[in-house]
Amino acid sequence: VNELTAREMLGDTAKFPRWSIAYKYPAEKQQTVIRDIKVQVGRTGVLTPLAILDTVHIAGSNVSRATLHNLDFIREKDIRIGDTVIIQKAGDIIPAVVEVIKENRDGSEKEFEMPTHCLECGALIVREEGEAAYRCTGVNCPAQRLRNIIHFVSRNAMDIDGLGPSIIEQMIEKDLIETAADLYYVKAEDIAEMDKMGKKSAQNLINALEKSKTNPLYRLINAFGIRHIGEKAAKILSAKYKTLDNLRNASVEELTEIADIGGKMAQSVVEFFMQEQSIAFIDKLEKAGVNCIDDSEDSIIDRRFEGMTFVLTGTLSKYKRSEAGKIIENYGGKTSSS
Ligand SMILES: [Zn+2]
Repeated sequence: VNELTAREMLGDTAKFPRWSIAYKYPAEKQQTVIRDIKVQVGRTGVLTPLAILDTVHIAGSNVSRATLHNLDFIREKDIRIGDTVIIQKAGDIIPAVVEVIKENRDGSEKEFEMPTHCLECGALIVREEGEAAYRCTGVNCPAQRLRNIIHFVSRNAMDIDGLGPSIIEQMIEKDLIETAADLYYVKAEDIAEMDKMGKKSAQNLINALEKSKTNPLYRLINAFGIRHIGEKAAKILSAKYKTLDNLRNASVEELTEIADIGGKMAQSVVEFFMQEQSIAFIDKLEKAGVNCIDDSEDSIIDRRFEGMTFVLTGTLSKYKRSEAGKIIENYGGKTSSS
């Protein structure tokens, strides 16, 4: 209905004007063949398998790729390379494979396997328990570069003023940096030449970078962006291990014994320090003079048990007695055997 007076006469319902009918794109389907399955690394490091298809015209466009979401989806639908499939597309939504025509199989179809190492950076690919996603763990992964550096400089991490995403993007584009560690090697002249920067803001940024070198160790640990390790866990690890070298050598078992460090956290810490990329990254930071030690006297962050003495006797239901003792000490309490 296009006439304004008519619209007014019809009036509105609570949610929609009565004169307009929501137009939904009808979902269109087409048959095609999967020639290959490729993997894309997203900005968060998550791997997404993509079907490479014989091009078909569907819902107003030519389609030669369809998302396969994750490995569970591929296994559930039993999708193989070489399969004839039905794909569906609606509006601007990414086309998806909805059905495999198994009668068309001739035995030459191949099962897809997730890569064990990232195609972009070579780092280890991990899948966490209970999660569908496979993830690249590389600190130097080009796919995750921008996001990692933005996290590194953020307020709760290294807190570097004057280094917004657009400047980081420019630095990456101009090949001034690959990882956050390279920030400490950028020259003021190069920064001054960038868009929206001048001599003064370049010098301010150099000063901010210089200042961040003396940050407490927990900030650096948080800045690494290790999965499951946020500010709180970074503080605990910094207080416990005192140097990055010590932390680097910690085992999963040892880490899990620390109160508030769970199995997933311990696992990702060990995986992080195992990577060659991480080692090179840390070396570069150390050479630039970034503080890698915690010289604060106090290794206890949370003092909720301070001044209390606990007597541990008998059998405890949740912990071994030695474990319970450690937890109490981590919180500033004391234990006594009788
Ligand atoms: Zn990668």
